[in-house]
Amino acid sequence: MTIDIRSPLLERFLRYVQIGTSADPSSETYPSSSSQLVLTKLLHEELLAMGLRDCVLDEHGMVWATIPASSQEFADAPMVLLNSHVDTSPEAPGTNVKPHVIDSFDGKPIKLGSSGVVIDPASCSDMANLIGKTLVVTDGTTLLGGDDKAGVAVIMQLASLLTNKQEEECKIQHGPVRILFTCDEEIGQGTRHITLEKLATHSLGDQPIAPLVGYTLDGGDQGQIDEETFSADMAIVRFKGSNIHPAIAKGRMINAVRAAAMFVDLLPTDRFSPESTEGREGFLHPYDLHAGVGEATVQLILRDFDEARLHEYKLLLERIGEEVTLQMPGLQIDVETREQYRNMAAGIAKLPEAVQYAEDAYKALGVSCQRTIVRGGTDGSLLTAMGLPTPNLSVGQHNIHAVTEFACLDQMVLAVEHLAELLKRWAKHGVGVS
Ligand SMILES: [Zn+2]
Repeated sequence: MTIDIRSPLLERFLRYVQIGTSADPSSETYPSSSSQLVLTKLLHEELLAMGLRDCVLDEHGMVWATIPASSQEFADAPMVLLNSHVDTSPEAPGTNVKPHVIDSFDGKPIKLGSSGVVIDPASCSDMANLIGKTLVVTDGTTLLGGDDKAGVAVIMQLASLLTNKQEEECKIQHGPVRILFTCDEEIGQGTRHITLEKLATHSLGDQPIAPLVGYTLDGGDQGQIDEETFSADMAIVRFKGSNIHPAIAKGRMINAVRAAAMFVDLLPTDRFSPESTEGREGFLHPYDLHAGVGEATVQLILRDFDEARLHEYKLLLERIGEEVTLQMPGLQIDVETREQYRNMAAGIAKLPEAVQYAEDAYKALGVSCQRTIVRGGTDGSLLTAMGLPTPNLSVGQHNIHAVTEFACLDQMVLAVEHLAELLKRWAKHGVGVS
């Protein structure tokens, strides 16, 4: 690739991260914060200026656009969806982001502005491979928002590259590409307003064309192809006690505060907890408790790569509930579970090329890669469940959801080059050729 993508990509990324877009979990609206619309409006304008057709900022604030095939020869190639989310995690402050560029990382601890916060390479194993690379860090008071503005900037830079008519000698061969920027991924709402019908475009001919494969650009480091996510349920455990004035409570009061505390205490901690598990191990995680004497509620998330085990976790919660009621006769406990998302492995396995071509594209660039699993979910989990196999790809995010977050420009550049190679493979080989 002879076009310089490094400086425009950095300029783009710095511009996007300075627009604070924290998702708000307490909001009922979509998007949950109006600041996300500031960024999606800007992305919409920038895509229109690139001359993309079918470029829409919809009523929910999501941005959709289509890039036609590079030539008639590839017009019938499978359409590829590229997706990133514009919101940032509510778990760390996200407004007034002041990015700082380190041109060449020297391997030493990085002091973040005057905040007193330090990124210590000893506590971030990725950093050993980043010496000499360009990093973007914060001033230590906010997150950076590379999750997922690194993905947004990578897709935008690719769109700019694919629509750059002046640089014919660098022309990347590709089939039709669909672009989608979503809101509120961080609070589990990224795909709330997406349907397969909306993913299809009417702009390329008489018949609507739908993507055959999708990629979320929302991964850490480089060379990782996430092909599995957790399967996820949430559980709401309700305790109904009996309240009465403490003066006359003997033999009559059933205190739901004590019941909820006992329940949480009986949950396993040496296994099946986030604090004691890693890799493919699942867990139950109590994350919220509201308690009064008459009523209490404990909310948990249940996670496992094996969907069937989620039911076993529910049975475990019910058994613990029975133990509590044995000690507190008259107490009522109800365990309700709600589905959140499912492991995308089975859906992705239906289209092996989705991961195969991503691997081939890294190999073509001389970059080692791994198939990886996510101890969480992505918008790709939900898109895959809808019938669109959607692995997740690396875009150079590090230490996400924290004020020590940083992004690596070199890895973002690689992500753009990787997408170009990946699109070439879908254009030339389509489905069924390995
Ligand atoms: Zn993300």
